[in-house]
Amino acid sequence: AFDVLVIGGGPAGASAAIYAARKGIRTGVAAERFGGQVLDTMAIENFISVQETEGPKLARALEEHVKQYEVDIMNLQRASGLIPAKGEGELHEVRFESGASLKAKTVILSTGARWREMNVPGEQEYRGRGVAYCPHCDGPLFKGKRVAVIGGGNSGVEAAIDLAGIVAHVTLIEFDDKLRADAVLQKKLGSLPNVTVIRSALTTEVKGDGQKVTGLAYKDRTTDQLRIVDLEGIFVQIGLLPNSEWLKGVVELSPRGEIIVDAKGQTNIHGVFAAGDVTTVPYKQIVIAVGEGAKASLSAFDHLIRTT
Ligand code: FAD
Repeated sequence: AFDVLVIGGGPAGASAAIYAARKGIRTGVAAERFGGQVLDTMAIENFISVQETEGPKLARALEEHVKQYEVDIMNLQRASGLIPAKGEGELHEVRFESGASLKAKTVILSTGARWREMNVPGEQEYRGRGVAYCPHCDGPLFKGKRVAVIGGGNSGVEAAIDLAGIVAHVTLIEFDDKLRADAVLQKKLGSLPNVTVIRSALTTEVKGDGQKVTGLAYKDRTTDQLRIVDLEGIFVQIGLLPNSEWLKGVVELSPRGEIIVDAKGQTNIHGVFAAGDVTTVPYKQIVIAVGEGAKASLSAFDHLIRTT
């Protein structure tokens, strides 16, 4: 059995594995796709101390760093269930879709999250070429340009306020006839001179010239008319879905499906920790996931020296 079994091989999982292995304890990482969301990222400019890198390059660096240590890496393994230890001294079990199962004294859950997509023509084609999901990451790439933000919830309105300080113009597009963001955010948004809000609008297509985004088509839901907005970037802010479906009913989740953790990364189950985008920790970023992974791992070690 493992002392620490990490589920998920993104920045949080890689960091957790390295911190555990450096304690000289038996460590394993099982991941569906080692590298995680980083693999889908183009330019990364906010991983502090690395001025500029690309997703696949950083993913490779994460894996190479983990491989410097005695860590069992089990790639292409999708976890399907967690069976918590029955009592003190017993082991937790993680089951996989492949039929395999692994046992461990402590488990660190770091299965990350995925952005909810619009599922309209052009979205996939222009992903990373104008279609973006993270304003903290990609906002500066659109300096002086025109962008749209899709979604009028808190994250959409926050993104629009944030981007308005960087880009030339922001069009916020909301499906409903009103925004759902907190009143204080809506007030701030309304005070900005370079933001236009369009309500009752269904985005129907991302337009491009074959190279990059050139505009967006939406249907005005009050008149059924199709309209086009010319722009260079589209930030999709319609939700971040934590990869926690497989833990429902076992680990305590927030209403949004995020694993609830305390300041030490501990879940409601003794000996089960969590880190990164799959948790309630705010601001989903690589630098944060890496820090949270380290923290969860140190907590797991702390737990081990007290219980075994
Ligand atoms: P993830 O990176 O999501 O990794 C999750 C891991 O768990 C993966 O290995 C996955 O395969 C695995 N997994 C999921 N479900 C299971 C399962 N059931 N069983 C086994 N394994 C499973 N952040 C920045 O800081 N800067 C940026 O420039 C930046 N740009 C981004 C651009 C894009 C397009 C995207 C999508 C995200 C970007 N982010 C950026 C966010 C950043 O990628 C995430 O915050 C970070 O990757 C989270 O790390 P994580 O380890 O928590 O989860």
